[in-house]
Amino acid sequence: MRNYTEKVVSCPHCGHSIAITLDASNGSQNFYDDCPACCHAIHLNMMVNEQMDSIELFVDADDEQIF
Ligand SMILES: [Zn+2]
Repeated sequence: MRNYTEKVVSCPHCGHSIAITLDASNGSQNFYDDCPACCHAIHLNMMVNEQMDSIELFVDADDEQIF
């Protein structure tokens, strides 16, 4: 299994595309990143599926809204 995967997500605040390198070696996790375009915090939710050998990434704006 590749532990590092790059995903492109859209900022939930401004729509800017951001390439994020994910490290799946520690399993599923939540983390935050700042959008380089609008500087708002982005809440990233990484789900590692070891059976499927896949990583899914969910993004939200950290304000209780689900995108
Ligand atoms: Zn943004």
